[in-house]
Amino acid sequence: MLFYEFDQNNTGGTWVADEDLGYKVFIEADSESAAVDKALDIGIYFDGCRTGNDCPCCGDRWYEPYGAGKEAPTYYGKPLPLTEAENPFGFWGLPIVVHYADGTRKYYDEDGGWFDTFEAYVSVNGKPGR
Ligand SMILES: [Zn+2]
Repeated sequence: MLFYEFDQNNTGGTWVADEDLGYKVFIEADSESAAVDKALDIGIYFDGCRTGNDCPCCGDRWYEPYGAGKEAPTYYGKPLPLTEAENPFGFWGLPIVVHYADGTRKYYDEDGGWFDTFEAYVSVNGKPGR
């Protein structure tokens, strides 16, 4: 199994973050098409501009998986979590959410922390999304 990466664009000047969605979403799956199916289940959508959901000047919020599947969730080639030095630009205050095939999730913050629940992420980092 591999991890497929879905990147969020802040179309219309807003981000979306919740138990399932963050700055980036990684989905562990047997294939890219299985990862896309799971993505659609958790609220990721494609062609947002064409369907009128997203701002046409900003572009679509979500895209098909970025690159091939990876052995582990990474950010610019570095495995999560990143130290602050490895991540000077942060994640815009959002978590990176990793969905494992067994149904568990992990939430990585931009300062090298990671959490087993969204509530735990919020208790340390505040409520994301704006
Ligand atoms: Zn726009």
